[in-house]
Amino acid sequence: MPELPEVEALKDFLTEHLVGHEIVRVLPVAVSVLKTYDPPLSAVEGREVTAVHRYGKFLGLETDGGPHLVTHLARAGWLHWRDPLPSGPPRPGKGPLALRVALETGAGFDLTEAGTQKRLAVYVVADPADVPGVARLGPDPLADDFDEERLAGLLSGERRQLKGALRDQSLIAGVGNAYSDEILHAARMSPFKPTGSLTAAETARLYEALRTTLTEAVERSRGIAAGRLKAEKKSGLRVHGRTGEACPVCGDTIREVSFSDSSLQYCPTCQTGGKPLADRRLSRLLK
Ligand SMILES: [Zn+2]
Repeated sequence: MPELPEVEALKDFLTEHLVGHEIVRVLPVAVSVLKTYDPPLSAVEGREVTAVHRYGKFLGLETDGGPHLVTHLARAGWLHWRDPLPSGPPRPGKGPLALRVALETGAGFDLTEAGTQKRLAVYVVADPADVPGVARLGPDPLADDFDEERLAGLLSGERRQLKGALRDQSLIAGVGNAYSDEILHAARMSPFKPTGSLTAAETARLYEALRTTLTEAVERSRGIAAGRLKAEKKSGLRVHGRTGEACPVCGDTIREVSFSDSSLQYCPTCQTGGKPLADRRLSRLLK
């Protein structure tokens, strides 16, 4: 799933390629992607893109005097820039294509979604805050005013584990499963550490890890074409998705905890005092 750094890079890429151009046609190929009906999708047609925004993991195109086209790529969604776009009409129900946006230049982009679970969402709204997921977003962790005090304030009111807190979009916008693993590894903290237990020094360490991890990932992703971002994201991750590999910091073997629909990765030496965490799914099955 694209998270803050990838969506930020997509925003840069699209700013460069879309702003000043006219959207001539928007084709919803998969009916389920469109989550709004008023204004209609056609309301962005014939309009110039004036700005591209990121809201957490959402991407929004602002049009001249018209509505915003906002998308959430979800777990298996992606954006593919096409120059030129294929000339024939896309065939509904075939393949991963969900939505196609065509510009007056003949170029454009496709939103695609792999797999059978269709979660990619597109909204056409007068105001981005009309998208419920955008309205619920917590502060952006790369915003200038997101300082250590802000993080401490957000976490102090929480009674849960760090992993879940970091991923909660209404607490902090843009961090998902991959970067929460990376941030906790950089901060040398267990994913199951209770948020309320952080000392001032630990909060400072977590803040530093959060900002550094995301800033570095944004820097790595910036300037990379949309099509190569997914590979770039994977290559930059130190623990996430690397079960069984050696930790790049200490050499210990990276382990994972599986849940019904996801998994997390961590390094026991760096994060849990050398102790492997119980695999909850497994221990439940064994009971
Ligand atoms: Zn390690």
